[in-house]
Amino acid sequence: MKTNNMNRQVCYNVQTAVDTKNHLIVAHEVTNTTDNGQLGLVATLAQKAVGRKDITVLADKGYYSRSDIKTVLDSGAVALVPKGDTSGAERKGLYNRSMFRYNREKDVYVCPIGNELQNRFTSIEDGLEQQLYFNNIACRDCSQRSRCTTSKREPRRIRRWVHEAEMEEMHARLESFPQAVVMRKQTVEHPFGTIKMWMGATHFLMRKFKMSVRK
Ligand code: SF4
Repeated sequence: MKTNNMNRQVCYNVQTAVDTKNHLIVAHEVTNTTDNGQLGLVATLAQKAVGRKDITVLADKGYYSRSDIKTVLDSGAVALVPKGDTSGAERKGLYNRSMFRYNREKDVYVCPIGNELQNRFTSIEDGLEQQLYFNNIACRDCSQRSRCTTSKREPRRIRRWVHEAEMEEMHARLESFPQAVVMRKQTVEHPFGTIKMWMGATHFLMRKFKMSVRK
């Protein structure tokens, strides 16, 4: 399977759902794909295992898939999955999409220098219904154009999934619960630490912190 750095290795990927109270694995599945796309499957297994739908599914950004998160939300669970920047815009010196603010009342995106990009049309991309926002006139002679798009002729376009509001609500929930990231690490990594210790990887337990000596 492909691993994180896109190398291929002879291996499997084990997905686990761990409860935050006892740190017990409540559901697991062995797959041979990366984490992306596995959220819905693991959430369903966890719901079956605990016999209820209204669970909170907390995962890292490797699981961020909008359609997967929507599946989890539609199943009756609450999802908390942070979004990483996968566009690479910032690395290329371009304005990141997160710098464009959505104005719900006017149904426009406001660009980093304050111009409004209007909702122009809807298209299906990668199986998702997306609304495209842009402003031909504002972008044409904009002094910031080179920071916004690499295209010589096309304006900067912002895509909005028709269910994007549910993703925004999830991000707001995450912002109001900043401990979520730490809680996830402490919970899902704990059983792996225990399993590795059972398998004999105890050498780190033999190392000590350097003691400071008082004079
Ligand atoms: S190019 Fe268009 S979207 Fe980008 S900053 Fe200028 S006006 Fe705004």
